Amino acid sequence: MRINTHLQQLKGSYLFTEIANRTRAYQQAHPEANVLRLGIGDVTLPLPQVIVEAMHRAVDELSCADTFRGYGPEDGYSWLRQAVIDHDYTPRGIRLTPDEVFISDGAGSDLGNLSELFDNTNSVAILEPSYPAYVDTSRMAGRDIIWLPCLAKNNFYPELPSEKADIIYLCFPNNPTGTVLTRKELARWVDYARTNHSIILFDAAYEAFVEDPEVPHSIYEIEGAEEVAIEIRSFSKTAGFTAVRCGYTVVPKATGLQAMWSRRQCTKFNGASYISQRGAMATYTPEGQAGIKANLNYYKQTARILSDGLRAMGYEVWGGANAPYIWCRVPQGFDSWSFFDRLLNTCQIVCTPGAGFGPSGEGFVRFSAFSKREDVEEALRRMKKL
Ligand code: PLP
Repeated sequence: MRINTHLQQLKGSYLFTEIANRTRAYQQAHPEANVLRLGIGDVTLPLPQVIVEAMHRAVDELSCADTFRGYGPEDGYSWLRQAVIDHDYTPRGIRLTPDEVFISDGAGSDLGNLSELFDNTNSVAILEPSYPAYVDTSRMAGRDIIWLPCLAKNNFYPELPSEKADIIYLCFPNNPTGTVLTRKELARWVDYARTNHSIILFDAAYEAFVEDPEVPHSIYEIEGAEEVAIEIRSFSKTAGFTAVRCGYTVVPKATGLQAMWSRRQCTKFNGASYISQRGAMATYTPEGQAGIKANLNYYKQTARILSDGLRAMGYEVWGGANAPYIWCRVPQGFDSWSFFDRLLNTCQIVCTPGAGFGPSGEGFVRFSAFSKREDVEEALRRMKKL
């Protein structure tokens, strides 16, 4: 037996463990402190009632002989796949068939599993700083990584790879920098992929935060993208499903990968739970739409309060519009971690040090808008005294 040494050599998840350790140590030393957690990228508002009721009904169905169900289709129930197309794609002029939509238990699993479609000798281009899953998944497969640094001098927009990249992970709206691409900017990536016979894995987990009409919600708004892009989406941040678990991945037939992905899923995945798919379906009802929009509006407004407040104090800030993340340059004399410590020790605020997302994140911290409004306002008051 030979183990996967690539996996063995992966470092532990230093970033969030270290944040948790430092926060715990502070809280133990100051049990009376009201620590404000503005670092975490997890939703905080409860699910809209119509979604909860749909899941309750689904559980009740399973308790009754007449309505009981066993395994569902591996790729998801047809009613949900059709609803995804009708609500998320057709209104944007995108034509898909239900067998191109694969319901999953969230974007995290699909982002990792899609790697299996490609030979390990493929090169992978990854934006840096980045959500860690792309890097770790590529390292587990032993792939060569082409880094695409996103720097302040370019407003955190990546340059196209100067060498040939076979697989390209793109994430827009971006975690952690909160940047977005316009249609014209995204079209350059689609052109690159078509010219170089690359595949783009487009992580659209934060699509629901887009408000600017120039910014696409889906990569398939770009002509020809259906030949070179797989899109990964999730109900996690759109509808507050981080605990429920449901998402979907679009693999158009024109990529030549749809049948392979279906084959892979049918072998290794027995489908997302019936209950979570019923919950996801309820997000598309008028009450579901109203409920999730109300929650999204709350986060969007929190993002604005946070980014405006930081700017008013003289901080250099990116994101916060069309995205739930605010990327903030640390004051002179600090690095990511020393500013994290300063905020924790002086203001009892937890943020996420940018260096944890890659070397180009050094000198920045990430704030999250998935926080309580009163915590954000209190955080801004405390930071004024810094
Ligand atoms: N993609 C990005 C960019 C994320 O930030 C996250 C979660 O924070 C995910 C994917 C994973 O989402 P899911 O809950 O659907 O697995």
